[in-house]
Amino acid sequence: MNKAESEWLENELRQVGWSRAPGAEGADLVILNTCSVRQTAENRIWGRLGFYKREKTKRPFKLAVMGCMGERLKQELLKQAQHVDILVGNFRKKDFISAVSAEVRGGLDPDKPLLLTEGGEYVFGELHSVSGFKAYIPIMHGCNNFCSYCIVPYVRGREVSRNPDSIMAEISRLEKKGIREVTLLGQNVNSYCYNGDSREQDFHLNFSGLLERINYNLKERNSLVERLRFLTSHPKDLSDELIELMSGDTLLCRHIHLPVQHGSNKILKSMERGYTREEYLSLVQRIKNSITNVSLTTDILIGFPGEEEEDFKATLDLMEAVGFDNAFTYRYNPREGTKAFSMEDTVPSEVKQERLASVIELQSRTRKGLQRAKTGRVVKVLVEGTSKRNKRELLARMGSDEMVVFPGSGKQIGSFTRVELLSLKGNTFTGKEI
Ligand code: SF4
Repeated sequence: MNKAESEWLENELRQVGWSRAPGAEGADLVILNTCSVRQTAENRIWGRLGFYKREKTKRPFKLAVMGCMGERLKQELLKQAQHVDILVGNFRKKDFISAVSAEVRGGLDPDKPLLLTEGGEYVFGELHSVSGFKAYIPIMHGCNNFCSYCIVPYVRGREVSRNPDSIMAEISRLEKKGIREVTLLGQNVNSYCYNGDSREQDFHLNFSGLLERINYNLKERNSLVERLRFLTSHPKDLSDELIELMSGDTLLCRHIHLPVQHGSNKILKSMERGYTREEYLSLVQRIKNSITNVSLTTDILIGFPGEEEEDFKATLDLMEAVGFDNAFTYRYNPREGTKAFSMEDTVPSEVKQERLASVIELQSRTRKGLQRAKTGRVVKVLVEGTSKRNKRELLARMGSDEMVVFPGSGKQIGSFTRVELLSLKGNTFTGKEI
């Protein structure tokens, strides 16, 4: 989401007279678009703020902090980072553009910081990508779920769904700029629900309906956008209607990122995820039964308060039962402002580390096995560039979101082709074009 919004920002800033600096060192304006989802992400920003404080003693430039940290830590930032010139929350990003547009004409007060953190409402940008072949397009914003460990609903607010016409218009614009693959984004895309405006009171569109509409439109006009993906799905909201749609002949990649977070019912309940392990496994079964060669990836959160050895084993057991193609694994760290913050952090750090290492080891073994089983298949790929190691080899992305290298010419970059998967080099396949 931040990547998409940063690209939108860059695009908007160009239109009011700014251009991208080759590096932060010579920039007149430095924008830190921040993430609060994990403490480590925030720590990195505090480190960057220290760096820019020193830089400011050497030369003048404006420093803006934007996004979730601007929402969550405004008082702390104002107190501890007084060299920040502009503080922007998630709902005033458009106002930031006007403010720095004035700055082009010398409009900012040099003596006090500009605060764009109160009020406002989330406004979807119109164009989120400016280069490359893949684009991320936000279709909804915010989350209504309040999982007990998660800060997102507090910093991004409640769910808002984007007008489908605006989504379609953005896809068409991106297509003209050379985009070939689109990822529809939202904190919980499955609860996308557009209810029309006051003139269309009976108009309701859910996520499957939106996908069907986009897919139909792209196919109907033989669009150069030949691939659709979406992120992120919530297991409690992923519908059978969507599974059916994905099992048919569509542009949708047969890949679902389906964060399970944990394998123990006790922990899932305490996380307030809204499903049991049995419900998750049954959903996976329905997906596998219907969508041939589907690739499933997940998130695993280790060391949540109250996690005992048997809960941890239940997670390993669930991972074995599903066989994820990939998993993003992370240790729990408390986020102030969430419900879990008041729970006792019962799992010692070294135990979290050991458990995380076991999860990573299991996942790596599973992934290797699943990848080996894929060799011999012929798959459609989007050529994204040349291989870093060998300029005569191309690097391409499969529908499963895995990478393959194969001999080819640079002219193919940005186009689709078919490749037979021959073997593995680390996690990347080697192949030959068919
Ligand atoms: S679904 Fe849960 S984990 Fe995901 S953004 Fe919403 S509250 Fe956070």
